[in-house]
Amino acid sequence: MSYRFDTLAIHAGQPNDALTGAVVTPIYQTTTYAQNELGGQPDWCYSRTGNPGRAALEASLAALEGGGHGLAFASGLAAVNALLQTLSAGDHVVASQDLYGGCYRIFTKIFARFGVKFSLIDTTDVRNVARAITGATRLLWLETPSNPLLRLTDIEACCAIARQRGVRSVVDNTFATPVHQQPLALGADIVLHSTTKYIGGHCDVLGGALITSDDDLYADLKFVQNATGAVPGPQDCFLLLRGIKTLSLRVERHAANAQRLAEHLAAHPAVTRVIYPGLPSHPQHDLAKRQAAGFGAIVSVEFEGGVERIRSLIGQLRLWPLAESLGGVKSLLCHPATMTHAAVEPAERQRIGIGDGLVRLSVGIEDVRDLIEDLDAALERSAAAALRGREVRA
Ligand SMILES: *Cc1c(COP(=O)(O)O)cnc(C)c1O
Repeated sequence: MSYRFDTLAIHAGQPNDALTGAVVTPIYQTTTYAQNELGGQPDWCYSRTGNPGRAALEASLAALEGGGHGLAFASGLAAVNALLQTLSAGDHVVASQDLYGGCYRIFTKIFARFGVKFSLIDTTDVRNVARAITGATRLLWLETPSNPLLRLTDIEACCAIARQRGVRSVVDNTFATPVHQQPLALGADIVLHSTTKYIGGHCDVLGGALITSDDDLYADLKFVQNATGAVPGPQDCFLLLRGIKTLSLRVERHAANAQRLAEHLAAHPAVTRVIYPGLPSHPQHDLAKRQAAGFGAIVSVEFEGGVERIRSLIGQLRLWPLAESLGGVKSLLCHPATMTHAAVEPAERQRIGIGDGLVRLSVGIEDVRDLIEDLDAALERSAAAALRGREVRA
């Protein structure tokens, strides 16, 4: 029997407890398990190797992405690390240049030291992918939509090229979520998640995941997971399974709010640019419609006035805390130039389009009218403050 997404989110990997009938997978807060005999092959022996809550989470994640196997990790970067640890010195990775900053850092500052080579390219143009693959390439690494500019990569076209050349492909599906985008069905070999974001969904747990239907790769990853040990604890797995149960309800509301907010801000006089794949003005709006069932809930906005205006705006907001991260029920505002992308040289930031006036909004599930009114009021007050500042200086 194959169930649909919303049913899988409640049931997959989470049968009623065999011992007690508990309808929620219990938290097995234990490190080890008594064994019946010497040299037996017990299902459970040590919690780094396996824990029932983690197994439930892994089965659930696999089902949501339509994959054969799931693996859960202590954070998104722990999942990234595990995948890279299946490579060897001399191997080559082709990756989107518009990459989550932590991935860029682990590529260039850690794995480069161990002899893994990286080419960071503009994957929004499929031809660049074909050109960048060499005889040493083992992995094509895509992130779409990208952060914070929400550029899209054609998953189906890029993964087809990789497959033709005998290269495995991974898609970081953190922003889109499996509710909106299913990379395995589009030809990817691996899906990566920071479950810290929408899958956990409440800004209260860190986690990461890899999902694949490739049995050999799964065996390698499972070996790395146990050998290097960056596994989530039982409480974290419980929270993530709880998050998954409402994932599609949340994402639906997140995205509806994001669309309303993006449309509102696009018509606002203090706004110079709104980037959201759900707006027809997004240069890849058609690709967004083709490869995803929705447009996500991250909206990037450029305000006039630069850093001073943003500083003043932040001081006036009541419903939009200034914070890193995204994907939780509570709306958050991030200023990439001074936060997530501060390590990128100012000239490079300008070149790729991350200006000082750019703000990334992670749109939560509050009443969108309150979110809009709060932003409007803060924009008005910050404009008045800027005007007063100018008068004082004059
Ligand atoms: C947050 C994030 C990561 C890293 O995940 P952590 O859970 O913070 O380690 C990787 N990729 C993307 C797209 C992210 O947003």
